Amino acid sequence: MQRRTYDVAVVGAGIVGSATAYHLARAGQRVVLVERSGVAAEASDAGAGMLTPLAEAGAGDLSDPLLRLGLAGLRHYQTLEAQLESETGMWAGLVHLPTLYPAFDDGQAEALRRDLAALQTLRPELGWLEADEVRQREPLLAPSVRGAILSPAEGNVAIGHLTRLLVRAAQLHGAELLIPRSALALLWDGVRVQGVLTEEGVIEAAHVVLATGAWSSAWHAQGERTAIVFPLKGQLLALRPSGQPLRHTIYAGPLGYLVPKADGSVFVGATSERRGFDKTPTAAGLAQLLAVVRRVVPALEEAAVERTWAGLRPVSADGLPFIGEAPSSPGLWLAVGHGRVGAITGPVTGFIIAELIQGRPVPYELDLRPFAPERLGAWRRRLTPLSAAGAGGRQLELFSQPATAAEAEAAAEEERRERP
Ligand SMILES: Cc1cc2nc3c(=O)[nH]c(=O)nc-3n(C[C@H](O)[C@H](O)[C@H](O)COP(=O)(O)OP(=O)(O)OC[C@H]3O[C@@H](n4cnc5c(N)ncnc54)[C@H](O)[C@@H]3O)c2cc1C
Repeated sequence: MQRRTYDVAVVGAGIVGSATAYHLARAGQRVVLVERSGVAAEASDAGAGMLTPLAEAGAGDLSDPLLRLGLAGLRHYQTLEAQLESETGMWAGLVHLPTLYPAFDDGQAEALRRDLAALQTLRPELGWLEADEVRQREPLLAPSVRGAILSPAEGNVAIGHLTRLLVRAAQLHGAELLIPRSALALLWDGVRVQGVLTEEGVIEAAHVVLATGAWSSAWHAQGERTAIVFPLKGQLLALRPSGQPLRHTIYAGPLGYLVPKADGSVFVGATSERRGFDKTPTAAGLAQLLAVVRRVVPALEEAAVERTWAGLRPVSADGLPFIGEAPSSPGLWLAVGHGRVGAITGPVTGFIIAELIQGRPVPYELDLRPFAPERLGAWRRRLTPLSAAGAGGRQLELFSQPATAAEAEAAAEEERRERP
């Protein structure tokens, strides 16, 4: 059986795992990135890539931990963009167009103005536009618009492109990519996690980072019964307008959003559906997205439909990501559950994990307590004795065996569903 030894093994090459591998490799750590499917094969190639922390994080509530993490994410992007572009000579995927938060009735306009007053204490660059100013700045918007918040610094990113670039840059710094390779179990010496077992052998590492997206429940002690992280299907539609371009990301609250991309297409999103691991675009989903176009930017009804697709947001049971080392399994790090905001918060999460693994303080003065990895129970499933892995390969006893036949069947079913 083949053995390899690293400082850190990162499991999952979505945006979170790729950013983690990049920051660690850049800091001189020996890193391996283990991905069972493809780089950015899942949510991190499906997302709309809006960098809008004000949109998803309970606008107006300045103590919202997701808002704080999102704002740190925006700050981190400024450094990351310059760094990646100078290291690779390639575009990092950022589109620097502002975001509009429009209101289409008086109640909405009033609510937005209230949020704005609070948010301006954190983001003084935010401003209010009256209806005619909005129409002037963004002539494609529905004429029923009653006003909008203008956020000049919330752009968007080509999330799949950025993820692939992070992997490329990580490799330039010496990281290894093992692909396609599934992590099956965590190796454990009775005190610390010591690496991962894959189909093709043991990877020994002083630290293991799980960045396994919507498939993360498989590693949680209660994951057989409770969806600690579950897939939330999101369908998107790409339009190719022939006339005037959209000048802003339009985030119209519960109605939906439109995101102008670097290649001239416009992403329209998104549905939120509990459909397990199904990623099929549906007629109902498409109808919902077309209704967003009609209601928010009717001028785009004549645009060509380019494609539709769906992805699986990794949403945690309490809506917050898990970031940090698992107290019950030292050496095991969690970087999962970024839900709707993984494009904004994924890269900064990778940076945080890399800093903490190197014994440095939490960056951006963030309070990580709301993201404590074991706030909903221990990450102790699939622990496997290291000695047994060396001797016996795959015929291993998992540390947390299912207790009953029904649980064993549920676990086997989950294993089948997890396969791409
Ligand atoms: C429709 C849609 C719209 C979105 N819009 C936005 C937006 O506008 N702004 C925003 O900030 N966010 C948005 N998101 C969310 C964002 O895309 C996700 O939060 C983010 O991509 C999650 O990244 P991840 O690395 O955690 O997971 P993924 O990208 O899913 O990566 C997880 C990886 O782990 C691998 N893996 C799993 N288990 C194993 C194993 N055992 N061994 C090896 N590999 C394994 C998988 O194959 C996968 O490649 C959107 C998402 C969707 C679906």
